[in-house]
Amino acid sequence: MRILISNDDGIFSPGIRALADVAAHFGDVRIVAPDMEQSAKSHAVTIHRPLRYHATDMGDFKAFRVNGTPADCVALGLYRWDKPDLVLSGINLGSNLGNEIWHSGTVAAAKQASLLGVRAVAFSLATEGDSPDFEPLKPYVERVLIHLLETPTPRLVNVNLPPEPEGIQWTFQSVRAYEGKVVEGCDPLGRDHFWFVAEPTTRPEKGSDRWAVSNNMVALTPLHLDVSDHELLNTLPKEPLQNM
Ligand code: MN
Repeated sequence: MRILISNDDGIFSPGIRALADVAAHFGDVRIVAPDMEQSAKSHAVTIHRPLRYHATDMGDFKAFRVNGTPADCVALGLYRWDKPDLVLSGINLGSNLGNEIWHSGTVAAAKQASLLGVRAVAFSLATEGDSPDFEPLKPYVERVLIHLLETPTPRLVNVNLPPEPEGIQWTFQSVRAYEGKVVEGCDPLGRDHFWFVAEPTTRPEKGSDRWAVSNNMVALTPLHLDVSDHELLNTLPKEPLQNM
């Protein structure tokens, strides 16, 4: 099996190395990742300048750094390698739970693979630290991959690991109410600046990704690319609307 690995923290993040170490138990691994951090870039793609694809020394792994976004890296990685079977993204330093999915570059790398017809899994670690110990997490990443590869579906999965997992659970995406705040400040030259902070105002719903991780469970959330509200659509007129 051919496994392409990317992330949004950049090719030198410790999380991508940990993911590659586990992936190597399943097949041939190639890393194609951004040359600098691209967190919270969502599914941005580069269309106004050329991309570069440079070989990078990562020990046993064939690796390439790209001056682009996570979605660019996956598109280019799939183009430059003949028919990979699986794309993995991460392990992100920080969670991608609930509404965080909307701006996550880690999840976008997996989404890009899914758009291009390749099965994909995004991995994130719910931690605030810069250099977590990935060793105790590797058996959980491996167990998740075994479980996902045993079943032909789902094709796109968002995985969040708590710092000290005790089990693995299928979940749904938490959609909580948030209170958006803007914190104003002043830079060293006396200029105003602004900092966005979003704080949840409700507790996580039982069975959701955020609920699972807060209970020390690895959360597996199946995603699909169609975000249409089909339940609502079924209640709306099927016929073309009259011109006003
Ligand atoms: Mn990141």
